[in-house]
Amino acid sequence: MPEGDSIFRLAARLRPSLVGSVVRAFAAHDIADAVAATLVGHAIVEVASHGKNLLVRFDDGRTLHIHLRMLGRVSVEKPRSAYWMPRRTSHQLRLDVGRVVVVGNRIPVLRLLSAGAEERAPDLQSLGPDLLATELDDDECVIRLRALGKRPIGEALMVQRALAGIGNIYKSETLFLEHVDPTAPVSELDDETLRALVKRASTLLGANLGEGPRITRKALTGPRFWVYGRNGRACLQCGPSAAIERIYQGAPPGRSTYYCRSCQTMPARSPT
Ligand SMILES: [Zn+2]
Repeated sequence: MPEGDSIFRLAARLRPSLVGSVVRAFAAHDIADAVAATLVGHAIVEVASHGKNLLVRFDDGRTLHIHLRMLGRVSVEKPRSAYWMPRRTSHQLRLDVGRVVVVGNRIPVLRLLSAGAEERAPDLQSLGPDLLATELDDDECVIRLRALGKRPIGEALMVQRALAGIGNIYKSETLFLEHVDPTAPVSELDDETLRALVKRASTLLGANLGEGPRITRKALTGPRFWVYGRNGRACLQCGPSAAIERIYQGAPPGRSTYYCRSCQTMPARSPT
């Protein structure tokens, strides 16, 4: 599942092949052929990521914006092995720069922004700080989380206009490691706790920028994650007496959150 770390890694993988290269051919099934053809001959000047967004910038100021959501995939292929569906299937991409061909499938958000349009795109401009930025502004993240008021923190951490990069896995793992109840409203958590959540999420994402599978536990044995996908299993901190639960948060059908009711008790609530 693409989260901020996978898009960061994808940008790093694309950068050496694309930056400085000139577009030889470009086709995307969601972009008119006549428009796509106007990219041919232009050089790629930058490949960037912000949260879960991939941005390929061209020398004429245009930007290709890609968001993979749950199922989208982008790969770098040798020209001969680059596979292109002959029929017009939606959500596909083919960017040929000679040495390599970038192929995308099932990409739900794929658009070519004209020069200056990136700066005016509400969805991009409203994004919160990138958790993988070299200098993360955690105060800004706290302010933006705080603005979500009574939203449960398990929902709030996924709001990309608060902080950019967290998906379902890091949400559950971050809350577990900070002992925070995912159903707690943001308004009941103090700034110190919000800041700790931001830093923890940033650290977890940052630890997964190399090769290999995504992990949040450093243990040599056992599961890769503390709680994610471990519904009904024993909490790795509490032991067999506490089972990990799965709940759904946000607008139906909701997104799954895994947590331990026994050790994720922040903020402590006074008995009623
Ligand atoms: Zn526990």
